[in-house]
Amino acid sequence: MAKILVLAELKEGVVQKVALELVSKARTLGEVTAVVLGTGAGAQAAILGEYGAQTVLISEDAAYTTYLAEPGAETLAYLIEQIAPSLVLIGGTYDGRDIAGRVNAKLGSGVITDAGEISFEGGALKVTVPWYSATTIVDVTSPSNAPLVMVKPKTFAAEKLEGAAVPTVEKISFTPSDKSKRARILETVMEKSEGPSLEEANVVISGGRGLKDAKNFELLHKLAEPLNAAVGATRAVVDSGWVSYSMQVGQTGKTVKPNVYIAVGISGAIQHTVGMKGSKNIIAINTDEEAPIFKVSDLGIVGDSLKILPALTEELKKRRG
Ligand SMILES: Cc1cc2nc3c(=O)[nH]c(=O)nc-3n(C[C@H](O)[C@H](O)[C@H](O)COP(=O)(O)OP(=O)(O)OC[C@H]3O[C@@H](n4cnc5c(N)ncnc54)[C@H](O)[C@@H]3O)c2cc1C
Repeated sequence: MAKILVLAELKEGVVQKVALELVSKARTLGEVTAVVLGTGAGAQAAILGEYGAQTVLISEDAAYTTYLAEPGAETLAYLIEQIAPSLVLIGGTYDGRDIAGRVNAKLGSGVITDAGEISFEGGALKVTVPWYSATTIVDVTSPSNAPLVMVKPKTFAAEKLEGAAVPTVEKISFTPSDKSKRARILETVMEKSEGPSLEEANVVISGGRGLKDAKNFELLHKLAEPLNAAVGATRAVVDSGWVSYSMQVGQTGKTVKPNVYIAVGISGAIQHTVGMKGSKNIIAINTDEEAPIFKVSDLGIVGDSLKILPALTEELKKRRG
């Protein structure tokens, strides 16, 4: 049976949702060993077991939370050499990318990024990867013994395994070297945000240049409130300084897959749609009936967003009493 190693990232001591998604996928491919590094690792073993990890390797060494990716990369490289897995799954997060690049440099394992479907065919790994802003999907394999495969959040569903056994928990007997402790985290500044995050929200309302002015983003926030939605944006408005980069959806921003995505004053450039076209229902508001966004929309409203947004918010409030 294939041995699958999953790097389960922690954020403030809690395992990230993408890790549960990876474990859920990994259990369909083989025997799953999850690796959890950092303060609080031990407490997260049980939840990884619930999603199908048979073994959880933990280390509570403070180095993983005090320094940037190097201690984590060193440890993962060590574990790959010890365990010789058929595949290593890593979340496509900032830290995941940093660690994967470093492990690849150490072991020459090869990295496949933005994985879609993952399977083994006749023992050979097959990963589908979107190219050219997802206009082409290619099948990729790797000659490496333990290829690193990076998967963006929400690519797979996080599903608990019915009747999952309690995982075996083992302490990692490896101490990161002093050499790996070069870039220390001095301060973590959390951006204040209200309501659900873009990645987690059931409804996302994004605004583009068609909103005309930064202050009109307030109209999106007003509509977001009764819908408990998150607010996103296009790169055009992020580059104009209207909103922060953390709100950017698309190729160089976040990938979102909510139940409902409302695109307001957004033309629908491929670099934007690649980050939202996996949404279940897409509604677009645009003055230009030829706007490309309508090609990926389930419902299109041709009209002025500055008039439609207040009317929609008002109507929603009325209906909700
Ligand atoms: C390498 C690369 C990476 C990129 N990555 C990203 C990315 O991650 N995310 C991203 O979003 N973009 C990205 N872009 C930029 C992308 O190509 C587009 O330029 C950008 O998405 C356009 O943003 P927009 O739709 O807000 O603006 P525009 O293209 O200017 O569209 C504005 C739209 O608003 C409509 N409009 C005007 N007035 C109104 C009104 N009153 N009411 C309703 N609609 C109105 C117009 O008809 C138009 O369709 C990237 C580009 C490159 C080259």
